[in-house]
Amino acid sequence: MRIAVLTGAGISAESGVPTFRDADGLWEGHRVEDVATPEAYATQPDVVHRFYDERRAALVNVEPNPAHVALARLEDAIGEDLTIVTQNIDDLHERAGSTRVLHMHGELNSALCRFCEARVRWTGPLADLPPCPNCGVPELRPDVVWFGEVPYHLPEIEVVLAKADLFVSVGTSGAVYPAAGFVQVARMYGARTLELNLLTSDVSDLFLESRLGRAGELVPAWVDEVLG
Ligand code: NAD
Repeated sequence: MRIAVLTGAGISAESGVPTFRDADGLWEGHRVEDVATPEAYATQPDVVHRFYDERRAALVNVEPNPAHVALARLEDAIGEDLTIVTQNIDDLHERAGSTRVLHMHGELNSALCRFCEARVRWTGPLADLPPCPNCGVPELRPDVVWFGEVPYHLPEIEVVLAKADLFVSVGTSGAVYPAAGFVQVARMYGARTLELNLLTSDVSDLFLESRLGRAGELVPAWVDEVLG
């Protein structure tokens, strides 16, 4: 059985990485328009850099939780039959041991040179405008997809969804497209669909089955079911 798992901010919540729509519609106290758009970067690059520098620095203080660990256990068991598509920019899936992860919204630990378009692994700050290791020009930006930009890996994701027998969505609000539409794509190609989320999401009605609860409990229980 081929499984596609879509994860969102909710899977990392129990690791201590705040989601952004839950409490106040803000992301760590910021309006999304002020920190996660090309316009924000064009007008206030220092604010945007500081925001992502803080998020990147905070990664060292968090650990994968049982939901990430369970998905890594599932990959150990079924290998290439599992692909994770994540909207998250943290590295908790990889640190739990998952290797088949498509980061459709980019990664905090990566920088993108606006001059030479090189992608480089980056764990330090960017606000001090370091030179690109590839071309030397100080034009590195966070390698994340901002609102209004095209997500990464979309053709590959379409193939994953088309081949999936089961599509599972974990901890995502269903408010950000195109990810929110993946359930319909997977269904169109014939997959069964399951949603695991703390609260009913904007797209819960589109799933064949929806289970409410914490990812740290729901995901390990579901993996146990699959591995039977
Ligand atoms: P969101 O913040 O819009 O929604 C989070 C969802 O997770 C909600 O539906 C909520 O009910 C659910 N949730 C909260 N705690 C949960 C738990 N313990 N168990 C299960 N579900 C839980 O997140 P989104 O839909 O992923 O969209 C947010 C966008 O913001 C993403 O595209 C991402 O790029 C970015 N973001 C990323 C991170 C991260 O990398 N960890 C964190 C915040 C925001």
